Amino acid sequence: MNKARELLLQNFDQMVSVLQKTICFNTEKGEPAEGAPFGVEIKKCLDYVLQVSKDMGFETVNCDGYAGHVDFVGTSKNVLGILGHLDVVPSKAEEWLYPPYGGEIHDGKLFGRGTMDDKGPMIACLFATKALKDAGFEPASTIRLIFGCDEESGMECMRHYFTKMPYPNVAFSPDGDFPVINREKGIFQFALDCGKLPEGVTIHAGERANVVPSLCTVTSKKQLQVVGNVTESFANGVYTYTSLGKSAHGSTPNEGVNAIHPLLQMLANAYPENATLAFLANKCCDTSGTAWGINLWDCESGNLTCSLDIIRTSENGDIIITVDIRFPVSYTCEHMQSLIEQNSPSFCKLLGAHASEPLFVASDTYLVTTLMDVYNTAMNVNVSPIAIGGGTYSRCLPNCVAFGPLFPDEEQTIHMPNECIDLESLKKMALLYLEAIYRLTKD
Ligand SMILES: [Zn+2]
Repeated sequence: MNKARELLLQNFDQMVSVLQKTICFNTEKGEPAEGAPFGVEIKKCLDYVLQVSKDMGFETVNCDGYAGHVDFVGTSKNVLGILGHLDVVPSKAEEWLYPPYGGEIHDGKLFGRGTMDDKGPMIACLFATKALKDAGFEPASTIRLIFGCDEESGMECMRHYFTKMPYPNVAFSPDGDFPVINREKGIFQFALDCGKLPEGVTIHAGERANVVPSLCTVTSKKQLQVVGNVTESFANGVYTYTSLGKSAHGSTPNEGVNAIHPLLQMLANAYPENATLAFLANKCCDTSGTAWGINLWDCESGNLTCSLDIIRTSENGDIIITVDIRFPVSYTCEHMQSLIEQNSPSFCKLLGAHASEPLFVASDTYLVTTLMDVYNTAMNVNVSPIAIGGGTYSRCLPNCVAFGPLFPDEEQTIHMPNECIDLESLKKMALLYLEAIYRLTKD
């Protein structure tokens, strides 16, 4: 192990340079093409990572461009999965200090979309596996790094991958927080038709069902009373209002500022007779779900969160919203759906949902106790596994928990402008992954 640790540190600069190259692929979801179900840039990034892995001497498989895996083959039939992704959420370059796909290093931090979520930790795991191999380690279980390509937009990649490939026996996903996340709230993202706005009013915001929107625009023939961080302009008899907020992950709406909220308030004030606006402004802007009557809580995972992430006018003039709900582990998607239907006005219609049941791997399983021991020993702490609202890859397969990459005292930049990875953290996490992979595959 000492030898492997040494090699990992020796190769750190090479790890950073491979990571920079992966960041330079803009792996936002794109138009499907041959062998590239999620866009050409994602395919190129996957090809690149698999080629680098092959050059390290590992066996690689490209699963129809949906995902790929890298094997360090062990002596037994068991497989340890390490599950991460190469796709990223969109970024607006004007909100960034440095180009989101530049991979630039400033003040000891590597900037770029995907540096923390999830290219950085996956490249760290790859180099940890390489260090073990180069140190002469012979794993009992096969070490299998799985690179998915559609984590941010519905996890289609893993549904496809696991129709072709078996589940690993146990797995971790470096796509959450340290120490270990063994409870993930259920996800219920749904589109709701909310009826019509007053004549001449439009509203538009959001791009992804799991991102708090930082920009929202409204047009209205009537002048509105401005509240919050909203600017007004007037041209051709139409007022335009632009609201600026702060984006965040849909599972943590309180870490962002939703740009839709003040505009709905302004519209509801100006058009009190419109039932759609009353519902949207009074019920849908409360991030705890209490105003809507859909709030839930349990002791394993805490409160439900509710994030209004997309709002649009459909072709027939109806307002369609997309809401991201994260509900506690003791409840089910079915329960959630009926709660929403019962508590929404009769003119609202549920159009469709992406639903994912909660994840719960008991704290006394070998997987969780081993990872916790690796973390507590290395960090010289004595902490317990945690619960989150984010949906990681862990829930795509049985016996999987999230392990890193975010340390408890670190600033969280995932899904935000200026996403970055601290190079010291990268080194620290690579050493933790090295230890974890070793302990989970040595016998
Ligand atoms: Zn992720």
